[in-house]
Amino acid sequence: MKYERILLKLSGEALMGNRQYGIDNDRLKEYAAEIKKVVDIGCQVAIVIGGGNIFRGLAGAATGMDRVQGDYMGMLATVINGMALQGALEDAGIFTRLQSAIEMDKVAEPFIKRKAVRHLEKGRVVIFGAGTGNPYFTTDTAATLRAIEIDADVILKGTRVDGIYDSDPEKNSDAVKFHSLTYSEVYEKDLKVMDMTAFTLSRENNLPIIVFDMNKEGNLLKVVQGETIGTLVNL
Ligand code: UDP
Repeated sequence: MKYERILLKLSGEALMGNRQYGIDNDRLKEYAAEIKKVVDIGCQVAIVIGGGNIFRGLAGAATGMDRVQGDYMGMLATVINGMALQGALEDAGIFTRLQSAIEMDKVAEPFIKRKAVRHLEKGRVVIFGAGTGNPYFTTDTAATLRAIEIDADVILKGTRVDGIYDSDPEKNSDAVKFHSLTYSEVYEKDLKVMDMTAFTLSRENNLPIIVFDMNKEGNLLKVVQGETIGTLVNL
């Protein structure tokens, strides 16, 4: 096992599966099965999940809604997704804890770093909900922040694309994939890995990022075991 403690970032949209909105239960089960494979080999797993399948503050603002109000709605959406994933993981026999950046003690623990680390050490999967708890941030930033706080070895950004390309591979069939990049190269080439706040935070704290295809069976396990899958960004 190459990475003993990981922070897995999943987008909210990934949970939609083939739907246009909301949560696809089959997709949840698939993700739970993939996560179980790495838990079973003793990897410590923390997860941040987005909320884009339900609500994004920016989208609300575009239709005239107050941005801050919308962002809090987006953060609550990540808690809904976190609860859904928690349920699927528990159904798969994995022990979990959901910690929220916005206190809501009936459904989640408050985020407490030391508690989170203790859960991880005991083999529980910890899901961090409600982003950073602040408007104007994204769940990529929340994922980076939590990864640094819990001293994760790497942030694994699970997407539907198998890495970072020089142009959008879903639009351009000639797009070329990078197997590894330095932080500087990402800036120079203006590549979209994460939003700049998240990316800068990763760079300043020397947190490696791997972007990989989470929808391909076995990929998460391969990444954790050190196979060169996806694109690695580091110093
Ligand atoms: N959000 C926020 N602060 C945070 C994290 C998220 O305000 O720290 C809000 C923001 O409105 C964002 C929404 O929650 O659009 C959902 O998160 P995100 O767009 O990052 O989800 P993803 O694109 O990964 O599904």
